[in-house]
Amino acid sequence: MTSYEELYLDRRPQNLCHMCGRCCRVVTTTRPYQELQKMAQAGDEGAVDFLKIFEPYPSIDAAKEADAEVVENVIKRTCEERNLNPSQLTFYKCKYLLDDNKCSIYEERPALCRHCPSTPWAVVPPGCGFEAWLFLKREEVKQKIRKSKEDLLELKLLRTKMKNPEDLKKIDAVVHKIYGMIESYKKYGAEDW
Ligand code: SF4
Ligand code: SF4
Repeated sequence: MTSYEELYLDRRPQNLCHMCGRCCRVVTTTRPYQELQKMAQAGDEGAVDFLKIFEPYPSIDAAKEADAEVVENVIKRTCEERNLNPSQLTFYKCKYLLDDNKCSIYEERPALCRHCPSTPWAVVPPGCGFEAWLFLKREEVKQKIRKSKEDLLELKLLRTKMKNPEDLKKIDAVVHKIYGMIESYKKYGAEDW
């Protein structure tokens, strides 16, 4: 986990949660159910934890009966933005969610619940208490990437004026680090920021 993610999780104001339970009632993953099952069989901890608590809805319509707005939002954000067919999605419900929206294993809930929403790009239910805060966090990251791109230009310019191999090595190391950081946000569109 990168230090940004650690800071993000530490600073997330948990009191923003309305405890509406919508993120426990209708959930989806970026990987298909069958792939998750294979990963769990191979010992992937994240997949094991996820399948321990979540069970799939038999169909998208069944998930819509539980919360149509959340399903439509996921289809819009996930399928339209990534050009996926909704039939490729599986929706899940947590077996530990109670009718009053409380978690029946709250004190022992797995890390994936404690970390949710785990990135500023998490697709949260409409009206989730974290929506505005996640937007601000996304903007912070975008600003950081823009600044890094400016730094890259300056470093490249500086490099043309240097001759000492040790200095060049140091610059190359910093450039490499910046490219790595930008790369880690590529999946969120960092190339266009
Ligand atoms: S949807 Fe948002 S506000 Fe509701 S329980 Fe989940 S994190 Fe909290
Ligand atoms: S274990 Fe609790 S917090 Fe985690 S998804 Fe289930 S009901 Fe929600």
